[in-house]
Amino acid sequence: MKSRQAMMIEDKLPSVEAYFQSQRVKLFGDGVWRSAYCHFHYDKKLERMMRINMKKGQFFCFQCGVEGKDFIQYHEKRYGLSFVKAVKRLGAWKADK
Ligand SMILES: [Zn+2]
Repeated sequence: MKSRQAMMIEDKLPSVEAYFQSQRVKLFGDGVWRSAYCHFHYDKKLERMMRINMKKGQFFCFQCGVEGKDFIQYHEKRYGLSFVKAVKRLGAWKADK
């Protein structure tokens, strides 16, 4: 069975920073781990409970516990997509048929 990872063209994926910018996730601080408002839970105080890794796109939220290993998983969870659909929407799927 062909790995679905093999169907992804990694060069076509945006950088971690560009991806989160495109999602209007404002990143605070500098360094590898940045803080952001979490879009997975409603927080009146708008605390920056989400942490995002700028190298790998790894993310987690202290408040609601959402987490993932890269921004493809972020895209899947935010829009309720499968891996394949998320990669297609990011324009990095090999056979787009
Ligand atoms: Zn959250």
